[in-house]
Amino acid sequence: MSDITLGIIGSGQLGSLLCQAAKTLKVKTIVISDDEHGPAQEYADQFIFSKYDNKDKIKEFVGKVDIVTYEFENIPVEILNQINKEKKVLPKPEINRIIQNRKLEKSFINELGIATTKWAFIENAEDVTKHKNLLPGILKTNTLGYDGHGQFVLNSLTDVKKDWCFTADYILEKKVNLKKEISVIITRFIDGETSIYEPIENLHKDQILKHSKIPADIDEKIYKQAQNNAKIIADKLDYVGSMCVEYFIDQDNNLLVNEIAPRVHNSGHLTINAFNLSQYHNHIKAVCGLKFEKLKKNSNAEMINILGKEIEEYRSKTFKEDEFFFDYGKKTIKEKRKMGHLTILKK
Ligand code: ADP
Ligand code: MG
Repeated sequence: MSDITLGIIGSGQLGSLLCQAAKTLKVKTIVISDDEHGPAQEYADQFIFSKYDNKDKIKEFVGKVDIVTYEFENIPVEILNQINKEKKVLPKPEINRIIQNRKLEKSFINELGIATTKWAFIENAEDVTKHKNLLPGILKTNTLGYDGHGQFVLNSLTDVKKDWCFTADYILEKKVNLKKEISVIITRFIDGETSIYEPIENLHKDQILKHSKIPADIDEKIYKQAQNNAKIIADKLDYVGSMCVEYFIDQDNNLLVNEIAPRVHNSGHLTINAFNLSQYHNHIKAVCGLKFEKLKKNSNAEMINILGKEIEEYRSKTFKEDEFFFDYGKKTIKEKRKMGHLTILKK
């Protein structure tokens, strides 16, 4: 054992994969989650089921761990700040505060001179009219969005329904005529050393990631720019851990940041089988202050996300030597829910 106990907030598949990586690095894990059936409890050394605002349970959790990290970004920042007073939270809560808020996130990226989609902050229907140059566009809730939840396509002003009361804050983004989507995963260590994975090409269906592959079919310029931007962003945030930058490439070959995930990312599942160190191993190493190791690619790869009922067919399949099936062991099958994934290594 490395004598380190890592606390992980969240118990989904990303939490499970973090726990599995931690085990190989001899780091003990304690997961806290408000999902009683969260699959990560199968892989954690200890599981605490609790609402995130339960002070006693949080205290118990904090008392048992050395460092805290998280598998999803929509945790109230006050709770992360509270924990951070006693045990270090990595990535820092301040990073989470910026990134879980689309307006702050996009402003931060633009201030670095890095392009995003064109966007505006929206509080009411008049704001949409003011920014009609962004139509056709996508209205997104400013906070708490994931897998396309909280997104509304607006083709014209008539799509803004009269009875909409704009109870939340939104941003309106111009719809990009997409050529491709890619992502870059970067792991940054406490001393600033980084491992940058090669760009991953992603295909989304109904705003949910369906397929990822390396190598991405992109030119050298985009490849370098995507990696450089990720490095600039991680350095500026003084980031520690694995992080993902999602990009759009438009029809004119412009590279635009879509969003940042301050955590391990779905598109990085293929790093488990294609590299000497996965994004999960690197995340654990970075947040626990373990030794940096040089990244080495072993193979090209493709990853297929298995959604909803599709899992049933996969559960009875047999797989070839270069195919790796991951079943997240979720108790209930729901439409579009991420139930597992398959990675296929390629020449
Ligand atoms: P989430 O926070 O739910 O991941 P994203 O903003 O990443 O939301 O959107 C999910 C997907 O929806 C994107 O990966 C992309 O396929 C599509 N999408 C989102 N915004 C735009 C846009 N402005 N133009 C074109 N496609 C978009
Ligand atoms: Mg996204």
